[in-house]
Amino acid sequence: MSACLFCGIVKREIKGDIVYQDDSLVAFRDINPKAPVHLLIVPRKHISTLLEVEQGDRGLIGDIFYVAAQLATDQGISKDGFRVVVNCGPGAGQSVYHVHFHLLGGRLFTWPPG
Ligand code: 5GP
Ligand code: ZN
Repeated sequence: MSACLFCGIVKREIKGDIVYQDDSLVAFRDINPKAPVHLLIVPRKHISTLLEVEQGDRGLIGDIFYVAAQLATDQGISKDGFRVVVNCGPGAGQSVYHVHFHLLGGRLFTWPPG
């Protein structure tokens, strides 16, 4: 069993509502959604936070944004607007230490975020 929750979902050891996967990325529904559409996009590779992203991961991170836009369209949230969020570290509210990109949409968002 993976020690990391999101590694467990990526490896299908833990149940996840997966909506997209490819060789390097997996996207699944957040268990406690903060918007009508709330997906988490994660690399299959375990990277604990955005600060641990390495030079060789730059293409991977670009792919995440590409897939986020595709998923926003697929999920019907691209027209009205959506948000992609990364919480990095405790002060930003990161609670799972496997880097993940929140894709949120389907409601209005305020700015600045809380
Ligand atoms: P963070 O607070 O680290 O930016 O985001 C972690 C997210 O993971 C939260 O939005 C939380 O609801 C979600 N989460 C926590 N545990 C699980 C789980 O077991 N399954 C899924 N699908 N999401 C989870
Ligand atoms: Zn992990």
